Parts: sequence; C-alpha cells; structure tokens
Amino acid sequence: MTLAATRILIIGGGFSGMSAAIELRKRGADVDLVEIDPGWRNYGAGISLGGATLRAFRQLGILEAFLREGNAADGVQTFLADGTPLATLPTPRVAGTDVPGGGAILRPVLARILAEATRAAGTNVQLGCTFTRIEQDADGVDVTFTDGQRRRYDLVIGADGLYSKTREALFPDAPKPRYSGQAVWRAVLPRPPEVQGAMMWMGRVKPGVNPVSKDLMYLFVTEHRPTNTHVDPATFVEQLRALLAPFPAPLVQHIRDQIGPDSQIVFRPLEGMLMPTPWSRGRVVLIGDTVHATTPHLASGACIGIEDALVLAEEIARHAQVGAALAAFEARRWERCRMVVENSGRLGEIEMANGDKEEHGRIMRESLMALAQPI
Ligand SMILES: Cc1cc2nc3c(=O)[nH]c(=O)nc-3n(C[C@H](O)[C@H](O)[C@H](O)COP(=O)(O)OP(=O)(O)OC[C@H]3O[C@@H](n4cnc5c(N)ncnc54)[C@H](O)[C@@H]3O)c2cc1C
Repeated sequence: MTLAATRILIIGGGFSGMSAAIELRKRGADVDLVEIDPGWRNYGAGISLGGATLRAFRQLGILEAFLREGNAADGVQTFLADGTPLATLPTPRVAGTDVPGGGAILRPVLARILAEATRAAGTNVQLGCTFTRIEQDADGVDVTFTDGQRRRYDLVIGADGLYSKTREALFPDAPKPRYSGQAVWRAVLPRPPEVQGAMMWMGRVKPGVNPVSKDLMYLFVTEHRPTNTHVDPATFVEQLRALLAPFPAPLVQHIRDQIGPDSQIVFRPLEGMLMPTPWSRGRVVLIGDTVHATTPHLASGACIGIEDALVLAEEIARHAQVGAALAAFEARRWERCRMVVENSGRLGEIEMANGDKEEHGRIMRESLMALAQPI
C-alpha cells in the first residue's frame, strides 16, 4: 500500500492518539507515539459511549474487549425528579444489529484496552516524553524531543488534548477553551440491579447513571455554576449529596446513600473549544480535543476524536501527497465535529436557562440520528 506518509509521529496518547496509532500501523506506517505522562494514566470515572463509538471500536478491533469489560445497553431512560418515567430515548444500533446502541466503561479500563492494542499494533511508544521544537520544510518535519533526540517525520499528528502545546506552537491565534457555565460531578458506585442501562432524572441539576461493568455504575450530575471557581475536595461528599437531596425518586435516594467518605468523586468544570479549519499546517495536523473539545451532553467527545483517527488513516492511505490527504480529512470531519460541539453547547444552554424541553429533545434526537450516519 502506498501511503502519503510513512514515518509518522503522534504527540499525545489519549483516546484519539492511540486510535490513530492503531489505524496507521494497520496500513503499514512506522509510528512513534510520545506521551507526556510517564504513567500513561487516564483520570476520571466512567465514560458513556454511543452506537457510533461502538462502531469505531469494531473497526479498531477492541469491541470484544469493550463488551467483556464494560457494559452495553439500548436506550436512555428519563424520569421526573420523583421517579415518574418520562420517556426512553432510542439509541440506534449503529455498530451492527448484534451490538446495543450505547454503553459505558471505566475510563482507566478503556485507556488500558486501547494502550494494549496500540502496543500490540507495533507502535513505538515513548512515555514521559514530548517535543521541544517542531520545524518543517516541504519534504518533512524535524522534531526535537525532551530527551534531546531529534528525528525527521513525513507527518506529525497533534493529539495532546484541550490544552494542546502542538496547537499552541502551530496556531498561536486559535480560540482558547471557554468555560460553559456548567460543571459535572462523577463517582463510581455499586450498581443496583434495576440499573440496566443509562438513566437520567430531570431537575434543577441533572443526575444520571450508566453501568460501567457487571457490578459497577458511574453517577454523573451536571450542575449550573455561573463562575468557574475552585471547589475544595474536602467538601465533595457533602456537596454531591446535597445536589441529590431534592430528588425524591427512591433510586436516586438509594444512590445518594451510597456516597460517603470512601467514594472517589471527580469534579470537573465543563469547557469547550471549536477551532475553525484548517486543522493542519504543512505536515502537522491536529485531531481530537485539540481542535474540537465538546461538553459531554451528547456523550460523543471521545467518539469524534476516535473517528478523526479512523478517517485520517484512511485518507493517508488513499492519497499520494500529505497535503491532499489532510485536505480530504478536514473536509470529511468538519461538519460532524461542528455539529457535536455546537449541539452539545446548545443543550447546556437550554439546561442552564431551564429552557424549551421540546428543543432539547429535538436536538438530542437529531444529533443521535446524525451520529448514526457513516463517517
Ligand atoms: C467531564 C467530562 C465528561 C466527558 N464525558 C464524555 C462521555 O461520556 N463520552 C464521550 O465520548 N466523551 C466524553 N468526554 C470527552 C472526552 O473525554 C474527550 O473528548 C476525549 O478524552 C478526548 O481525547 P483526546 O485523546 O483527543 O484528548 P485527551 O484525552 O486530552 O488526551 C490527550 C493526551 O495527550 C497527553 N499530552 C498532553 N500534553 C502533551 C504533550 N505536550 N506532549 C505529549 N503528550 C501530551 C495527555 O497526557 C493525554 O494522554 C467528557 C469530557 C469531560 C471533560
């Protein structure tokens, strides 16, 4: 197979960078991946995934591992604060008729599955390392690393997340991450038998649960916080319990009772950023959260980053020139990524304003249908 680029560097070993490594190795590229964290850790509780993400897992070859170690289920059940059922949002079976339309998994477990697949694919992974300098000419990119080494590549992929140094180096005028006005609390808890799939309750804050394995689920609570101020971790238990207090639903109260001093609670202000195209300069291209960090209202941030990786590898294999491959990549990705970031942002705005429930439902349905389309 002739590739537009054969010597490729990926900066950042998150979900997007690892997926790019796996797909490019499949096509025969030599891939170096540098990850700044020496422990290659992934923080956080669970991650919810739609059918399009499971379709991408199938292509990456990790669907079986996900189904074994995570949890897959159809639909999202919604309830009033007192537990009265409202509706079940359908989640199309995008990955195939044999695979439910959504699911969830512990973040560190998904990161481990992807890291194992990245290494098994033959990627040269270097941990605790990053670039210090990127210089390019018409034929290649010279990269100097923190360990003093210098290597030349045909293509460099920046996948170093929302606060990307690669973006900073290449696009100093790119938009900056913006606080959305919402924050999310998450915790991993034992899974009661009645929690079979994603469930959400409607109230002043939005609690939800999603099973991440046979025994565990994760709780997420989205809260309107007009300013992005520090929250003392010593108050996490008390604050999270207080947010759930106004929900009389027996299941929510049962979940609230499970939250105690031993619970691992993660609090995260929600930020977003959508960088207009071009996402590349010469032989350096950005993917994932570096160019389209979304709030989690459609549970599709990881999805669009992983899809970037799949599409980029396809276009590298389809074209003889890097420039043509990157132009084709951006053309295929822009509209879908824009849709996810902007629709997620709008859902957050409606929630904060206690706005139009019809519009909220319509955007959810239309977005899920759009995500089910081929990439
Ligand atoms: C609170 C919250 C909840 C979310 N929930 C969901 C959800 O339910 N479903 C969903 O699909 N998405 C969700 N998302 C979005 C999802 O987590 C991100 O879209 C996804 O993790 C982006 O992956 P990435 O690989 O592009 O970036 P990242 O995950 O940020 O990975 C970047 C990697 O690069 C490394 N790195 C950073 N700087 C450097 C450097 N200079 N050199 C080398 N390496 C570097 C980092 O250590 C990291 O490993 C959520 C996000 C948030 C904030």
